[in-house]
Formats: sequence, C-alpha cells, structure tokens
Amino acid sequence: MLSENIQAVYGRISRAAISAGRRPEEIRLVAVTKTVKAETIRESVEIGLREFGENRVQEARGKISILKSQISNSDIKWHLVGHLQKNKAKTAVELFEMIHSVDSAELAQALNDRAKNIGKIQKVLLQVKISDENTKHGISERHLPDLAETTARMENLKTEGLMTIPPLFDNPEKARPFFCKLRELRDKLCAGGYKLKELSMGMSNDFEIAIEEGATIIRVGTSIFGERRRQAI
Ligand SMILES: *Cc1c(COP(=O)(O)O)cnc(C)c1O
Repeated sequence: MLSENIQAVYGRISRAAISAGRRPEEIRLVAVTKTVKAETIRESVEIGLREFGENRVQEARGKISILKSQISNSDIKWHLVGHLQKNKAKTAVELFEMIHSVDSAELAQALNDRAKNIGKIQKVLLQVKISDENTKHGISERHLPDLAETTARMENLKTEGLMTIPPLFDNPEKARPFFCKLRELRDKLCAGGYKLKELSMGMSNDFEIAIEEGATIIRVGTSIFGERRRQAI
C-alpha cells in the first residue's frame, strides 16, 4: 500500500508539473512523517523516499535516532515543517537539514547562534502568514521584508525561500490565491536582490494547485502514509 501511495503521489506531481509547463524534477517531495512510526519511515526509505518532514522536535529526535541506527544511508534529509520554540533551537539545528518555520528575528537569532556553535550553515525558510484564519504562526506580509533583511545578514543561516500553510478548504482551488501570493512575495524579494529559490507550499489535498503556482517543495503526509489519528498541524 505504501508503495502504491508513493507511486500515486509521484504520478500526481508529474501530471501537475507537466500541465503547468514545468519539469517534475523541479519539485521536491518532503514526506511528512508526524505520527508515523520509524518502522514505516524505514519502509518508505527502501521504496525510495529521501526527504522527510516532522512538525515536532521531540518526536523527530526519537525517530531520527532509531533510523540512524538502522540505515546507513546518509543522504536522508530531515525538514522541520512545524512551529519551533526558541528553546528548542539547539536540537533543531542538530537534527534538520532545513527549517521551514522561521517567523521572527528572535528565532532566527537563536538558530544562527546555535548553528555558529557547531560550525553549521543552517538552511531556513521564512514562514509567511497570508491568512489569519488558520495558523497562529508565520510572519505577516508587512513584516516579511524586515525579516528577510535580518536573516540575510546572519552568517550561519542560509535563507532559501518562503513557506506558507493556507487554511484548509474542501475545494483545493480556493487555496490558489494563497500560493500565488507567496510566489509574488518571493519574486518581489528576489527583484530586491535576495536569492530565494524555494517555495514550500502544498499538502496532500492541494499540492497540484501549489505546483501550478510554482511550488518547489511540497509537504505530503496523508496521501503517502494514510489518515493520521491525531490531526496535528
Ligand atoms: C501535517 C503537515 C503537512 C502534511 O499534511 P497532509 O495533509 O497530511 O499532507 C504539511 N505541512 C505541515 C506544516 C504539516 O504540519
């Protein structure tokens, strides 16, 4: 079942990319493994997945250490897609290839300090709150330029793009304006001289729309691993 699900997701990615005139390889699939057991994650590595996303540092830490002891594959990358508290910055920097949820200068500073301590350049995305209906977290559109300027100056952070979580709609088409907006914000910052390549947007129910609007990273849980018992965003 896992294997069929993964094939189906790749099929959806290909069709959406091609219909938007993009190459499917431009889109990175981050498999979101919150609430998924380490054993299942290991199976999905055997099937071919290499990038995983977690939304809680504690949960991720346990699973990452189990998996490290079981698989030698060093090209597995972990993404933090959920909200991060400053006091977990140290562990986050130790565990994650990319942190998608930077939404304040204070958090960015904490990550920069921790990254500096261990001699790492930490890749981050700035999480933007485009609506205030759904998510508590994210920087507002108005304050985004300041945060982009601040993180660009931090020597141990590499700010690679933007991330957003639109409200959950029954009709995924309704998410389109949010994805479109994130791309416009990214393009505007790029026109101002920033190098922000990535757009992390699109989840199980709406990633085709996100791909049409320029997503470079999609974060997919349910379509790969099935329904979660606790819905935790
Ligand atoms: C859970 C989660 C996802 C994946 O959601 P699905 O609808 O299961 O694909 C993506 N992004 C974030 C931030 C999440 O917390």
